[in-house]
Amino acid sequence: MLWSGWGDPAKAADLPEPIRKLLHEMLGVRPPRDRAADFGEVRLPAVALSPPVLTELRGVVGADHVRFDDDARIRHTRGKSTPDLLRMRAGDGSDAPDAVVLPGSHDEVLAVLATCAAHRVAVVPFGGGTSVVGGLVATRQGFTGVVALDLARLNRLVAVDGESMVAELEPGLRAPQAEQLLAGHGLTLGHFPQSFEYATLGGFAAARSSGQASAGYGRFDDMVVGMTVATPRGTLDLGRAPRSAAGPDLRQVILGSEGAFGVITSLRLRVRRAPAERVYEGWRFESFAAGSAALRHLAQEGAVPTVLRLSDETETMIGLARPGEIGALSADAGCLAVAGYEGFSEVPALRERVAAVASGLGGVYLGPDPGESWAHGRYSAPYLRDSLLAAGATVETLETAGFWSNLPRLYEAVRLSLRASLGSPLVMCHVSHVYGTGASLYFTVVVAQTDDPVGQWEAAKRSVNETIVGAGGTISHHHGVGRDHREAHAVEIGDLGVEILRGIKDRLDPEGILNPGVLVAPERPVS
Ligand SMILES: Cc1cc2nc3c(=O)[nH]c(=O)nc-3n(C[C@H](O)[C@H](O)[C@H](O)COP(=O)(O)OP(=O)(O)OC[C@H]3O[C@@H](n4cnc5c(N)ncnc54)[C@H](O)[C@@H]3O)c2cc1C
Repeated sequence: MLWSGWGDPAKAADLPEPIRKLLHEMLGVRPPRDRAADFGEVRLPAVALSPPVLTELRGVVGADHVRFDDDARIRHTRGKSTPDLLRMRAGDGSDAPDAVVLPGSHDEVLAVLATCAAHRVAVVPFGGGTSVVGGLVATRQGFTGVVALDLARLNRLVAVDGESMVAELEPGLRAPQAEQLLAGHGLTLGHFPQSFEYATLGGFAAARSSGQASAGYGRFDDMVVGMTVATPRGTLDLGRAPRSAAGPDLRQVILGSEGAFGVITSLRLRVRRAPAERVYEGWRFESFAAGSAALRHLAQEGAVPTVLRLSDETETMIGLARPGEIGALSADAGCLAVAGYEGFSEVPALRERVAAVASGLGGVYLGPDPGESWAHGRYSAPYLRDSLLAAGATVETLETAGFWSNLPRLYEAVRLSLRASLGSPLVMCHVSHVYGTGASLYFTVVVAQTDDPVGQWEAAKRSVNETIVGAGGTISHHHGVGRDHREAHAVEIGDLGVEILRGIKDRLDPEGILNPGVLVAPERPVS
């Protein structure tokens, strides 16, 4: 993974010429004032952890598994939001952990937490490091140091219960590794977020992730039937049946807790048989409103493909849903919907049902090309972001969800807010997760960088966060809360909601060492 960008450097994407032209003509993009820092130029704070604490941590996980070299620290600094990348490009390593600790078992995680609680060291659970909401930056105030607790060594497929269709997997497995291990049993999780190549199972559970095929396979939190969690107070072992009426579901307390309540050390996940057939195809709708109505009907009539997404007019025109064709502008393209089917003998009948609803609501069938093109380029957009940043354009995404009846208002409110803060940005949107009652909205924003691109984006983000909550949407459908959404989340759940979360944190983590500042603000500054 690139330290200041996304993914495998060998897959870096050049900016297509039409995009360069568009950036210049439409948005006034010019090359950034400062060149990007080299790895050796990143400014890191001195290691704050005392030698006795480092020795104790080495005693727990082994000397090879406590690292405090520059390389390890830089690669565990923040996540992969655009401000995160801009800060790294500027050589700002001020949020680096003092050390990276790699435990090899649940018991080692418990022992690391005990050591850190005893010495008031903050602990940031670290999966794939792909958080885009500031979920990997701990508040230092009140702590003697910060360690990144990298779960990469917890990477086994522990067991498969083929009868119940449940697999036990460890949290440090990256999604492709997990899929590969399950494929050996003819199984799949079916969780394919855009961060698929690098994100881990623990991160998916901790941040309540949703994949591109969520219409068919469900969100990640739907897949979790059980889990083991290490907390500073001991172990939680949750989920002994698919559903239970035995009190509130404590699994839901841990799902979405973003490392602030405990460290997930094992997951029992619902799995599916690996599909025999995969078909992706495209539909054209006259407008975003017409396409949204069709998606709503499909969701409400239970005729839901595995993948179901709809781009608005701008996103369709730019070609973002078909990365191979970005920039091949066509003003009358309407709105592109992609429907993907992954399954078995039921696929033809489902395609027919979807076709009947879509064409009955004004959809025009475009054949397999747009669907195949989307499927082929589904993981490439993050690579393009690096090229855009280097060219002087800020590109960032944000997302929300709402009920169908409120979706048009939410859509317009977000676009207006972005225009009010950023002047004339390019704002594109798609629906990518649909439910009977509502859907998600996922926005991509491109704007010319000012000389302070981080400040420019953060101001816009603050204002759009307020707008989203004010317009009745949730502050996140699948990216989570982290630090970036904390204030808006507090408004969304109210004072009492925040108090409940603080109460849970205080009970599980009395010293407040777990990811301080993420999800819920400390009640009072720690002295
Ligand atoms: C280019 C890009 C595309 C993305 N696309 C999607 C998408 O399509 N869908 C989507 O849902 N998200 C997406 N994301 C966001 C991100 O990938 C998800 O939030 C993902 O769940 C994070 O997983 P991770 O393993 O990288 O976790 P990390 O980023 O390492 O951690 C995320 C949070 O969970 C905590 N955590 C991690 N592991 C554990 C654990 N074992 N126990 C307790 N806490 C833990 C961390 O402390 C942190 O607060 C995208 C991000 C990027 C950069």
